[in-house]
Amino acid sequence: MSARATSSFAQPRRVASIRRAIGHLLGVETRGSRVLSLYLGFDPSRMPNLRERRMEADSLLAQAERRWGGDGHVSHLERMALREDIEMVRGLLAEERELAPESARGLAIFCAAPAGLCEVVSLPEPVEAMVALEERPYIEPLLELASPERWCVLLLSHRTSRIFTGTRERIVEVAHVLDDVHRHHEQGGWSQARYQRGVETETDRHIRGTCTLLHERCKRRAFDRLLLAGPAELHHRVELELHPDLRQRLAGCFEIDVERATADEAHRRAMPLIEAEERRREQEALSSLEEGLAPSGHGAVGLDEILEALNEGLLGTLLLARGFRAPGFVCPVCGRLAASAHACPLDGAQPARCEDVVENAIELALENAAEVLVVRHLGEKLAAHGSIAALLRF
Ligand SMILES: [Zn+2]
Repeated sequence: MSARATSSFAQPRRVASIRRAIGHLLGVETRGSRVLSLYLGFDPSRMPNLRERRMEADSLLAQAERRWGGDGHVSHLERMALREDIEMVRGLLAEERELAPESARGLAIFCAAPAGLCEVVSLPEPVEAMVALEERPYIEPLLELASPERWCVLLLSHRTSRIFTGTRERIVEVAHVLDDVHRHHEQGGWSQARYQRGVETETDRHIRGTCTLLHERCKRRAFDRLLLAGPAELHHRVELELHPDLRQRLAGCFEIDVERATADEAHRRAMPLIEAEERRREQEALSSLEEGLAPSGHGAVGLDEILEALNEGLLGTLLLARGFRAPGFVCPVCGRLAASAHACPLDGAQPARCEDVVENAIELALENAAEVLVVRHLGEKLAAHGSIAALLRF
């Protein structure tokens, strides 16, 4: 068996850098100034097109100026700070390299000039363009990018195996194995029956070898889910040879031309199965929620109840519809989150209003090592519960 690595996998480095950026942004000291958060998505089919990127950035900055730069609910000082932020971002974007990092599909920029905060994060996939001005960096789109599920797609024919890994957005080939199944036939004068048995044995050996290789790889760099592709008659045989650790990750099979398929084609064919798996997981969480909504169950709905569970460290999974936001309150003394403006039960302090308490809730959930599930497919079902819900630990 000959195995060769065909390419290194670039995505995790970028995901790791997003995770680092999130860690940094969670801890950032804003000293009372608001943070201008800007998300730019680049159309991958037209990139790199600096002019369009600048136009998109300019239009977002103009939007920020219109929404928060005039008289209204922000103070004179905050307006001055916003102007400073906008100038800072313009300065950044004037530098070509900031707008065109190699292979970036988007940019996130966080700016609070009075607090000396200026952070640029290059994104591995396009995001929806948006701008926010809030007490904290707006990090929800980053969270979605930073915790993608890792997928492995194994293409296997009688003599070739190809291993692809990646996320729902992209997979790349990381190993290619070619076994010379027909060697014996070419060398000796086997009878047809013996040849057939020989090929069967060689195919079995090839399958076993590939499964071992895949298991080794998974131990080195784990993936969450596995798809199996190739001639249908081999699927069951591979499944039987998979290590139990891998078999439990198997999420489906599909047919494909193993020798000729490109990474894009493998990804396109895998996508319906990936989405089906996401839907299944969302459904599972929602069913668990519905069961948990019985009296004294482990489900929680209603912003107040969810924030209370978070404050108490009882939250296991936070379910959120994509883009869901809600105003709320934060205690300036102890940081307790609340949906209403009652004095803090711990220290009696009057809570401060914040425009998006969901963002604080996500931060707190992550600090408490709770799972944050952004519901992508079944948002309507979650909407019936108010677009935010929780599964409690106890
Ligand atoms: Zn408090």
